[in-house]
Amino acid sequence: MKAIVIRQHGGPEVMRAEEIAEPRPGPGELLVKVAAAGVNRFDISARRGDIPYAKVTFPHVLGLEGCGTVVAVGEGVSAFQAGDRVVPILSISSGVCRHEICYCALGHDNICRNFDKLGLTLWGTYAEYVKVTQFNAVRLPDTLSFIDAAAATVATATAWELAISRAKVRQGETALVNAAGGAVGSSAVQICKLAGARVIASAGADAKLERARQLGADAVVNYERQDLAEEVLRLTDGRGVDVVIETVGGRVLQQSLAAMAHNARLATAGTVGRAKVEIDMYRLLRKQLWVTGTHFAPKETVKTALRLLGEGKLRPVIAEIMPLTEAGRAHQRLESRDFFGNMVLQV
Ligand SMILES: [Zn+2]
Repeated sequence: MKAIVIRQHGGPEVMRAEEIAEPRPGPGELLVKVAAAGVNRFDISARRGDIPYAKVTFPHVLGLEGCGTVVAVGEGVSAFQAGDRVVPILSISSGVCRHEICYCALGHDNICRNFDKLGLTLWGTYAEYVKVTQFNAVRLPDTLSFIDAAAATVATATAWELAISRAKVRQGETALVNAAGGAVGSSAVQICKLAGARVIASAGADAKLERARQLGADAVVNYERQDLAEEVLRLTDGRGVDVVIETVGGRVLQQSLAAMAHNARLATAGTVGRAKVEIDMYRLLRKQLWVTGTHFAPKETVKTALRLLGEGKLRPVIAEIMPLTEAGRAHQRLESRDFFGNMVLQV
């Protein structure tokens, strides 16, 4: 099969289109013919070798997002059959952990301790075929195209997990969504609106803020030109926001904490720069703030995201669709931060 293979860590130039052996589905596994793959910031970290808790073995196929059609099933597969349209779940869990706390059984399969990940410890979706266990696949709604599903599934599920499951945004509240032009941010703007909140979107470029307004943002702040905390406090009559959806880190995270109301909740799913941020503990305790995070999203949230995308209640935001062979250019564009939404590779 054709795949984008890396044989060492490095820049986009280490990604090469190669012909490699097709994976064979073992017991309980599905072989999926990939129709489209999403491009995630995590793929860039996997390419560079920047993931501290996991090691890539070479040759390796990148790609943790994607979707396609089941073409073969291994022994003992009961949940799927050839012809089913599916999305593989990127965080591979067993569903039957032997640890004393089984996060899978609690519905938190995204933090399963039997941890494997597509495109990191397993071959990923930048290929004609990908192998996945039946526990780690979800059926696609008929109304959702492969391109839309590849673009929006992970971003929407992660944003839902942040806004609804973790930060618990409610009707009548005000939410600040940082990096509103990003994959997660552009979904989070829509989800917070759907939940009935007033949304303040932030980004580092005015063109992205204009797009965020089209997605439903009520107010916008350019955190490169304006003081984020000052602007958000001005927009909320000095009260601050109830919820922050954060994916930037650094100064933007610090200013977001300064822009939070008492008892407000901040949920994060990532950082663009360094992972470590200095936090003013007095601010945290005086305002009784909640700071939480999520590692992508559990399977049940992926199902919720797919249902809402299929019903058209949430919309995929596509920056560009490219052929698989241009995966290197997709990474360059993602690293440039000059895009709005999600990049998709057509396989
Ligand atoms: Zn588990």
